[in-house]
Amino acid sequence: MDLVIIGGGIAGLTTAREAARSGMSVTVVDPTPTHGASYAAAGMIAPLTEYHIGDERLTPLLVAAAHVWPAYAARIADESGLPSGYVDHGTVVVGHDVDDKAELLRHLPAQRALGFTPEVLTTREVREREPALGPNLSVGIAAPADHAVHNREFLAALLRACELAGVEFVYETAQVTAIPHLVQCESQQLRAEHIVVAAGIDTVRQAALEAPIRAAIRPVKGQILRLQADRRTSAMPELTVRALVRGKSVYIVPRPSGEVVIGATVEERQFDLGATAAGVFELLRDARAIMPSVDEWAFTESWAGMRPTTHDHLPIVGASTRSDVHYATGHGRNGILLGPLTGLSMAEYLRSGVMPSPMSNASPLRFL
Ligand SMILES: Cc1cc2nc3c(=O)[nH]c(=O)nc-3n(C[C@H](O)[C@H](O)[C@H](O)COP(=O)(O)OP(=O)(O)OC[C@H]3O[C@@H](n4cnc5c(N)ncnc54)[C@H](O)[C@@H]3O)c2cc1C
Repeated sequence: MDLVIIGGGIAGLTTAREAARSGMSVTVVDPTPTHGASYAAAGMIAPLTEYHIGDERLTPLLVAAAHVWPAYAARIADESGLPSGYVDHGTVVVGHDVDDKAELLRHLPAQRALGFTPEVLTTREVREREPALGPNLSVGIAAPADHAVHNREFLAALLRACELAGVEFVYETAQVTAIPHLVQCESQQLRAEHIVVAAGIDTVRQAALEAPIRAAIRPVKGQILRLQADRRTSAMPELTVRALVRGKSVYIVPRPSGEVVIGATVEERQFDLGATAAGVFELLRDARAIMPSVDEWAFTESWAGMRPTTHDHLPIVGASTRSDVHYATGHGRNGILLGPLTGLSMAEYLRSGVMPSPMSNASPLRFL
């Protein structure tokens, strides 16, 4: 076959769909497709509010990726006959105390220099835009172009679109081998012209891959909560709300169904997916500090995922030192946002041998 992809998260499935639609025969190997970090995520499509000082090389990639999303989501919904989960309801950022306000305002000059137009709001104005917010706020900033997707709905639609495009699935784990073009699965071997490793954080366990590239990826654990609001009896947000509460970040992402996602912890941990009392407590404490109606929502889930994070925050997408093996991983905290652009860029690269800009900035070879 033309292409074997190890890993069926958002990076592997967008690559599979695009490659299959460009005429390649594609097999995805994954024991549990769509159930890695992509399942854990909150689904924010948020180039502005994801900006951190020092991310000047990452931000153009995030902006390009956000532009791709609306049309991509519409195409996946059309093809699959399933909802894409994409919503363009915008985001507000709020600070809780004066230090949080100072910290949020500190980022504005750099954001404006990158071409963003964050709008500073008084606490009254931000509560008018998002009435579910409580009174204990120090500042508001509007980011209307930062959107969101119900990532689990999108993954279900994307999986269906892959099947309809002719992608085959093998429900096993797989390893790249030292033999060119050969992938070792649990019950069989697969041969392909191209092998794409899109195994998320588990890419580090692929022993045949270059050690310096694997060493550049580390797991950053995120715990995340799901609650269910009843609109008839309690206030729920209409916008994504991101907040800094006594120096700690928290976000609240509403779904049209009344589900509300509260996340996420940021923990430097080695492969630990357990939920902890401290993780759940701190997320709820910080969320209810800015939105008191959190107390009234039904608690439905705590979950955790590992963000495949790189030293320089850029993903790892493109060539390895072997002509048969390629990477699509290392997306850190922005893998949902970067998903469609990753698939489109990978398909173009597999077809032409040249990684298009701006994904060309994410070459795995920068770590060698
Ligand atoms: C709590 C949390 C919240 C997040 N929120 C957001 C957000 O709001 N917005 C955003 O853009 N990003 C967010 N992210 C980041 C995003 O989820 C990840 O960057 C993204 O999902 C990574 O996608 P992936 O396809 O590379 O990995 P994954 O989704 O982890 O997929 C990798 C797949 O590879 C498979 N696999 C692993 N090893 C093997 C093997 N040996 N053989 C076969 N298959 C294998 C796994 O089973 C898995 O299905 C969040 C992450 C977390 C943890």
